[in-house]
Amino acid sequence: MQETFLCINPDTFIWCKNTAGLIYNSENGQGFRFKKLDVKPVIEALQDLENLYCIPLKDNDLNNEYLKEFILNIIRCQTGKLINQPAGKHKPVNLPPLLNLQSDKKRIEKASPELLGENMLHYLMELTIHLNATTQNTNGYKLKVLIGFLNSLSFSSLKHVRIKSEDILLFTRSGILFSTIKKMPAKKSIYIKINDIRPEFLSANIFSPEGFVLVIRIDNFDDLHKIHQIIKMMEKKKIAAEFEFIIKDEEEYQIAEILVEKYQLTGADIKPVFTGDNLKFFEKNIFLTEEDLQEPRLNRREVFTHQALNTNYFGKLTIMPNGKVYAHPSHPPLGTVEDDIRELIYKEMTQGNSWLYIRDMKPCCDCIYQWLCPSPSDYELAIGKPNLCHIEG
Ligand code: SF4
Repeated sequence: MQETFLCINPDTFIWCKNTAGLIYNSENGQGFRFKKLDVKPVIEALQDLENLYCIPLKDNDLNNEYLKEFILNIIRCQTGKLINQPAGKHKPVNLPPLLNLQSDKKRIEKASPELLGENMLHYLMELTIHLNATTQNTNGYKLKVLIGFLNSLSFSSLKHVRIKSEDILLFTRSGILFSTIKKMPAKKSIYIKINDIRPEFLSANIFSPEGFVLVIRIDNFDDLHKIHQIIKMMEKKKIAAEFEFIIKDEEEYQIAEILVEKYQLTGADIKPVFTGDNLKFFEKNIFLTEEDLQEPRLNRREVFTHQALNTNYFGKLTIMPNGKVYAHPSHPPLGTVEDDIRELIYKEMTQGNSWLYIRDMKPCCDCIYQWLCPSPSDYELAIGKPNLCHIEG
């Protein structure tokens, strides 16, 4: 006598919400939607952890056309297979993909910032520093505190430091602050808005301070002549500047695309911005559709990451000119540069609103794509809507 088992692969996720279900193979990125009611007993058995992703099929199960189609889809997407074996033999088993419940957040809550010590610093990956004339005043108290704070990051995993300054010259000429940041073992970028580029900058050599990448933010397309002039000047001076195009509609998107193509701008980024009156543009171009989620190509680790933390915000801190430190400037500050960095990170990891801001809110928590959708971003915050999609989960 033979027995037949339906076995799901260990890299396959099964999600059911209300009447809908989704099977997703995180190894090959394939999956399919199904109606839960069509295959209810089988799907419930597969989701029962005790069955370890393998369930026996009855002789007449394959006569059920819904179940037959469901199993054929499982085989087609390589999310699982049928196993025939002699009756009485040990049943096959697989381990469903489960997020380790002893997640970082829970582990950290049990400890304290002092006990966790330097380990907290490993979570810090990106720092944005906003500077103005007050913070850059070389004699100022604030500057000394800021430098002390930056020096305390020497054991962090910092990968990128972004400088956003009202006056780029003031920063590049500010002795100690400039040299402290220059020494930091991370990529360093200086951001400047196109409209803040003054005529004297065009001749000075300030655009290529050694060790820094210059990022030119183009958020205004009124003066196209100036944009062309600046891009050409970067080419002429052989400055590897990066360009960030902040666009609000299709017309600006097309201008940005033409510029990227014409000048072969390899480090260019085109970022839509919500202005309050371009919702239609977002609905048409940014909101997700069912088609966008057909092949999300997320591996197992990336799905777990979506379940645990916000991939847009995690590991990032922002320092404002007044010395306040934020995980995200839209939320209250974590503290100031006078605080211990380890305590600020501990606070965000245990009480914060940004690093661990995941899709666990309605309507996403009732949607089968909850963990395949990108983490919530600034667009959700700006538009004031938790789900930027055209999908009925
Ligand atoms: S944004 Fe939310 S509701 Fe929309 S598809 Fe993603 S998870 Fe579902």
